[in-house]
Amino acid sequence: MNHPALAALLSCLGPDRARTDDFCRALYSQDDTPARSLPEIVLFPHSHDEVVQLVQIAAKYRLPLTPRGAGSGNVGGALPLAGGAVVSFECMNQVLEYAPKERLIRVQSGCITAEIDQIAASDRLCYPPDPGSSPYCRIGGNLAMNAGGPHAVKYGVTRDYVLGLKAVTGTGDTLQTGVRTSKGVVGYDLTRLLVGSEGTLALITEATLRLVPRPESRALLRAAFRSSEDACAAVLRVMGQLQTPSAVEFMDSQSLAAVRAMGAAKDLPDGSQALLMVEVDGSTESIPVQLAALETAIQGEGLLQLLSGQDRTSQEALWAARKSLSPATKAMAPLKINEDVVVPVPQLPTLLAAIDEIRQELDLQIVSFGHAGNGNLHVNILVDPSRAGELERARRGLDHLFRTVLASGGTLSGEHGIGSVKRDYVALELDPVALDLQRRIKELFDPLGILNPGKVFPHE
Ligand SMILES: Cc1cc2nc3c(=O)[nH]c(=O)nc-3n(C[C@H](O)[C@H](O)[C@H](O)COP(=O)(O)OP(=O)(O)OC[C@H]3O[C@@H](n4cnc5c(N)ncnc54)[C@H](O)[C@@H]3O)c2cc1C
Repeated sequence: MNHPALAALLSCLGPDRARTDDFCRALYSQDDTPARSLPEIVLFPHSHDEVVQLVQIAAKYRLPLTPRGAGSGNVGGALPLAGGAVVSFECMNQVLEYAPKERLIRVQSGCITAEIDQIAASDRLCYPPDPGSSPYCRIGGNLAMNAGGPHAVKYGVTRDYVLGLKAVTGTGDTLQTGVRTSKGVVGYDLTRLLVGSEGTLALITEATLRLVPRPESRALLRAAFRSSEDACAAVLRVMGQLQTPSAVEFMDSQSLAAVRAMGAAKDLPDGSQALLMVEVDGSTESIPVQLAALETAIQGEGLLQLLSGQDRTSQEALWAARKSLSPATKAMAPLKINEDVVVPVPQLPTLLAAIDEIRQELDLQIVSFGHAGNGNLHVNILVDPSRAGELERARRGLDHLFRTVLASGGTLSGEHGIGSVKRDYVALELDPVALDLQRRIKELFDPLGILNPGKVFPHE
């Protein structure tokens, strides 16, 4: 225990907001991975100035700090691997400024993502990034991970909506990045550097976010195919025409088996081996034009059924299968290794063929689904570690998967990030020059190495 540091932190925030009891430490020892790691203290600052004070104390005593939003991350990013303090941003949940006429909102980093969008909705605006966890994850976590969601294919990801940030570096200095205007090119783009830095460069305390007009209407198409190859060919046709869909989601045959086992998607025709959900949004008048273009694009070899939903209830019924998948896969095995690889859209068939090969050669249960319009698939390897050799086979499968993705011109993670879980694969993707520059950038922001140690960079 780092007693002088804990005493200083306790006297800074008081015992209610600097907690050392076992219950609180246990609660903040976990995220959405199976791993656990106990912090020595959990801190709940209320303001930017308090965060500055906490970092200055931590720097003085070399105490590791792990920032945390809602702990919904699935790569071990919010785990306090080196002990020290967890800095929870959940009490920093104030909207500091809302300017609908300027289409911006300035928030503290503990605001819940979906609540930001709800505020914007009152002026028919929206904050588009929509990770599946948005009802409870926090904007600071989204910024740190550069989170995306199903609508990224049309609207982009978190980084596309950040005008500026306020943050505290590892030396306790306040850093203000970006602008509040829609244009601004002075100096290096430190905003983009901080977004996606996974809490290793600075603790983000405030963000100025861009809002856009809220789409008036939505419509949804659900297409069942005889094979994954046929579905991938349809994705290419969809992405190759001029009406940009607002979501293009894919489910493979194993996903369909999983949702059928839960009693969902009963209306799928026999022989369905892959499913696409294609959504459009925009002005009410534009919807029929968009739908017609997308229906034409979806038509082709292997299409077994094409359904459309134009009112909210029928759309929700069509989405039901896709939305039930994440909990369905969690229930299928004691351990779910959830990858989120990305390949160029034309390479999706190569990726799916490699997944089939891994499944057969290594006798693994693998369920794949996700954001096909971005070439971003969640590849879930479902493992029972009590079965002899299964964990080791899963590791070999991952290696094969990652090498296929990189050989196809893709990337190891489209939205989950690296955290602690994937750090040893980073050097497969980043060349030594890029990795060395990134290490040196980390040293500039955090010379004492106290911010989120054990994350992002491969073991030396
Ligand atoms: C059911 C489910 C669905 C999901 N769907 C998606 C999805 O569609 N798209 C997607 O991208 N992700 C998804 N995720 C993953 C996760 O929700 C996102 O990564 C999210 O951005 C994490 O937010 P959080 O507030 O929970 O952050 P946490 O998990 O608490 O933290 C995530 C990382 O951010 C750092 N961090 C947190 N706050 C700050 C801060 N203020 N300053 C600096 N660093 C900080 C942490 O140290 C950690 O490294 C999903 C997770 C679940 C469980």
